[in-house]
Amino acid sequence: MDAVIVGSGPNGLAAALVLAKAGLQVTVYEAAELPGGGTRTRELTRPGFAHDVCSATHPMALASPFFRAFDLAAHGVELLVPELSYAHPLDDGRAGLAWRDLDRAADGLGRDGAAWARLFGPLTERWTGVVDAAMGDLRHPPADLRAAVTLAARIAEQGSPLWNFRFREDTAPAMFAGLAGHAIAPMPGFLPAAAGMLLGTLAHVGGWPIPRGGSRRITEALVTELEKLGGTLITGHRVRSLHELPKATATLLNLTPKGFTELTGVPYARRFRYGAGSCKVDFALSGPVPWTNPDCALAPTLHLVGSQSEARLAERAISRGRHAARPYVLAAQPGVLDDGRAPAGQHTLWSYAHVPHGSAVDVTAQIIAQIERFAPGFRDLILDTHVITAAEQETYNPNYVGGDIGGGAMTPWQAIARPAPRGNPYRTPVPGVYLCSASTPPGGGVHGMAGVHAATRVLKEHFGTYTDPLELLRC
Ligand SMILES: Cc1cc2nc3c(=O)[nH]c(=O)nc-3n(C[C@H](O)[C@H](O)[C@H](O)COP(=O)(O)OP(=O)(O)OC[C@H]3O[C@@H](n4cnc5c(N)ncnc54)[C@H](O)[C@@H]3O)c2cc1C
Repeated sequence: MDAVIVGSGPNGLAAALVLAKAGLQVTVYEAAELPGGGTRTRELTRPGFAHDVCSATHPMALASPFFRAFDLAAHGVELLVPELSYAHPLDDGRAGLAWRDLDRAADGLGRDGAAWARLFGPLTERWTGVVDAAMGDLRHPPADLRAAVTLAARIAEQGSPLWNFRFREDTAPAMFAGLAGHAIAPMPGFLPAAAGMLLGTLAHVGGWPIPRGGSRRITEALVTELEKLGGTLITGHRVRSLHELPKATATLLNLTPKGFTELTGVPYARRFRYGAGSCKVDFALSGPVPWTNPDCALAPTLHLVGSQSEARLAERAISRGRHAARPYVLAAQPGVLDDGRAPAGQHTLWSYAHVPHGSAVDVTAQIIAQIERFAPGFRDLILDTHVITAAEQETYNPNYVGGDIGGGAMTPWQAIARPAPRGNPYRTPVPGVYLCSASTPPGGGVHGMAGVHAATRVLKEHFGTYTDPLELLRC
């Protein structure tokens, strides 16, 4: 056997595809009955209601170097791109609206419109350079230095107490806090700012698509291609020790450092810290959410937290181990674009709230309260709910340690030294064993790039192959 991969998340499958494209014999072992890790869709509440169990919104499915090379559309995945990438409702019925057209978004931001356009405009013009810099392994200089410097300058500004310097009103700062909140870390901070700048840029370029049929379509496309190339996927097999696996030249673990230690018995990355948790709540609804601001009905993705200072307080509370009374809630209403997610006239709503690491608290009531704030009457539409607390996330997927859905805390140190300060962050202390998960650069999200970077090292170090892995994928 050339390569064995443990875990079939997007990074595990991306690594498997790169290696299979290079002509290697690859087998993937997956603990769950269904492949896909964070990209699965299931009827969690009622028959006919298809819920994304983890990821729902996929800016990176269009933008990451892996998916640009793989081309999901060419593999039958229909990525539905909204005109309104995300909405950020406020208490008085106003809302920040991130239209994909940057000029239109700026027009809606009053006195801050020009500042918003100046914040994101230069990045949208060089967006591939921006994405490639953010999705790199942080061990090689970025190909588009100008894009990287422009991005870094904005991260420095938006990650510092100067983050409101360019704004005069409250909508644009709230919108930026909503973007930065994806990092699940105290703000302002450089890592939340990096997440905010990247996601904010993509909102005004390719947009924030959702796959028709749910995130599982992404997994299905990757698995189908892997099997076409002769790769094997074995599901329902939780690997407990490396000794269970067939002998292979290289073993790639789509796991956290904790998972690595469980399988090998070798302590590693002892200082690696896992981040705050998320409590996920899915709703089956009898109708569309009655947003006070009607434009919110056009956005598949919404940030529900109110003002920038509320977002800051909520994230600070959870980083200190306290539940926020009004938590940061991320919501997705796929029915805006995909009418196949629920029976006719009915809808699904996907949501999660940030909570402290390891929290076993069901925060459904707080999530409903945050939605009701911006959509009074929402409560009356609820037919059913399905909850996964932060503590339960780890049972669902061992990679979500303490409910941390990003594979490790988002701190500046862990952005670089992820999972440990090493020249090759993918190689582990066990010869021939590599990590290829969100716990390695470039971190969390459905982009496949940790898998690509790890597979690139494996090809060079064990098979003498130096071909650009993305070129391999394009063939
Ligand atoms: C609630 C939630 C919402 C999210 N929303 C988004 C979003 O909208 N957009 C986005 O881009 N990202 C989102 N994410 C994050 C994204 O899903 C993850 O960052 C991404 O899936 C990480 O990919 P991965 O390949 O590193 O690992 P994972 O996707 O976690 O896959 C790891 C796989 O390894 C398997 N495994 C673990 N241990 C073993 C073992 N011992 N033996 C065999 N198999 C094992 C697991 O079962 C799993 O299938 C979300 C995550 C969650 C939980």
